[in-house]
Amino acid sequence: MSKFPRPIIVVSKCLGFASCRYDGQVIPSSFVESMKPFVDFICVCPECEIGLGVPRDPIRIVLDGKKRLVQPATGIELTQKMERFADSYLEELDDFDGFILKSRSPSCGMGTTKVYPNAEGKNWLNSEENGFFADAVFNKYPHLPAVDEVQVNDLLIRDHFLTVVFTLSSFREASSLMSMHSLIEYHTRNKLLLMAYDKQLMLSMGNVVANREKRPVEMVFGEYLDLLLQILSKPAETGSTINAMLHSFGYISRYLGAQEKFIFLQKLQGYREDSSVLLELKERILSWSLQFNVEYISEQTFLCPYPQKFACRDQNGNFR
Ligand code: SF4
Repeated sequence: MSKFPRPIIVVSKCLGFASCRYDGQVIPSSFVESMKPFVDFICVCPECEIGLGVPRDPIRIVLDGKKRLVQPATGIELTQKMERFADSYLEELDDFDGFILKSRSPSCGMGTTKVYPNAEGKNWLNSEENGFFADAVFNKYPHLPAVDEVQVNDLLIRDHFLTVVFTLSSFREASSLMSMHSLIEYHTRNKLLLMAYDKQLMLSMGNVVANREKRPVEMVFGEYLDLLLQILSKPAETGSTINAMLHSFGYISRYLGAQEKFIFLQKLQGYREDSSVLLELKERILSWSLQFNVEYISEQTFLCPYPQKFACRDQNGNFR
């Protein structure tokens, strides 16, 4: 199996793929750009899909008893059209791993969109609403990762999103083989990653893989996927990540001198205050595991869940 099977991600088309914004603009995203060598994108512009042209008069969300999508300049009501498009589009999607959507849009925004009390006024009620397409995404795929182009500037959000999409794409590859061998192999490689997310659920997933009831392989994969989506639905907490790190370190420490052990454990303490230390610690363990030939650890996705290029930014803060 490949180390990093290509995730498939549904992305707002204006994020670097087409000039489809209401004002004819395209919004460059260095994060989306950095993913292109490693990811397959499915682009969608919901507003163009419901027949709005480019350029077009802006649309907005109005909350006047119920949530509506309107185009103030023309008075056109777009609520039903957008809801129908979003439902049928998402229904037809198959085999993908997550979403990157444009922030603040009345269609694509996720908790960042302005909502107005009426179609005409300039004042808005709040700017924490979901766009209509995003609403449909959350309803249909509540467990799949979804971020916008601003959220990915946060190290922890970005790390969680990338970890989940690459873990899911790797599961899709294991599923394509549909054999207990491929599932056992997948679970073994991901054990410490799953431990960092939730140790109890990781143990339940181990029981599913053990398949003591001898259920059909398709059923086992289905049950495993439900638990996988559940375990990855929230970012790993600091305490459980430290536990997984200590677990990895336990396989390596016998090869190390007292000073190396001390320095590593001191650094790990620092992780509670500074999450950027984590990458360095993982790299350290990975390099020791290769040096001392501890195969179980060197193959753990926990130490390198996605191509590390994503973690890197240049001097200007852009993703390389
Ligand atoms: S935010 Fe969504 S609807 Fe608006 S232009 Fe971008 S892709 Fe199209």
